[in-house]
Amino acid sequence: MVVKEYVTYNQVHKLCQEAAPRILEEFRPQLMIAIGGGGYVPARILRSFLKQPGSPNIPIQAIGLSLYEALPSNHPSGANTPGDIEQLGTKVTRTQWLDLTSLGEMENLVGKRILIVDEVDDTRTTLEYAVKELEKDVEIARQKLGGKGEKTVFSVFVLHNKDKSKKGSLPDDMLKDNRYLAARTVGDVWICYPWEATDIDEHDAMAEKQPSK
Ligand code: 5GP
Repeated sequence: MVVKEYVTYNQVHKLCQEAAPRILEEFRPQLMIAIGGGGYVPARILRSFLKQPGSPNIPIQAIGLSLYEALPSNHPSGANTPGDIEQLGTKVTRTQWLDLTSLGEMENLVGKRILIVDEVDDTRTTLEYAVKELEKDVEIARQKLGGKGEKTVFSVFVLHNKDKSKKGSLPDDMLKDNRYLAARTVGDVWICYPWEATDIDEHDAMAEKQPSK
């Protein structure tokens, strides 16, 4: 039986608020890349807390990556709604990517401090893929622009990191330089995010019933 943990919009908002000062202090991102769909809402909330007086909002770009397949509704995990809970896939599929044929878009990425945002780091497969592929593409873009620009620096923010052995890995320098930040570290539970709920009142009621942490 999969243990579920319900997280409310209010909690997500406060996790972003709490993380923002550290992100500003340690990363000072100039751009966010949200991994869809779970990274969209946290990235948008973070943007409000990262806004500096006199500076424009930090732009958010989106990529779509998919690793999990929906379980059949009769799966023993107890899921009874298609899409209610998901199971590990084996490979990451790009459903949306940056347009690196656009000169403006390439210039936006090269030499920048970029914060990659997702909701949860489970097996780390998705984050490994995102970081590796973005690093590769940005280096290609830098070369296309003459190879003179500074290197792009990536950092990662997730709401939840599951404390478990990971299949994927992140660059050593990213971990060493504290460019990986999880607002909370949790056990190997299934986190139910509010944007996945079809009945938000029921979702909030489930969250309310959980023992407070
Ligand atoms: P990973 O590649 O780290 O195994 O998984 C990343 C993606 O799997 C997340 O972006 C998310 O879409 C999905 N995922 C993994 N664990 C959970 C979870 O506990 N709850 C939800 N809602 N999605 C999860």
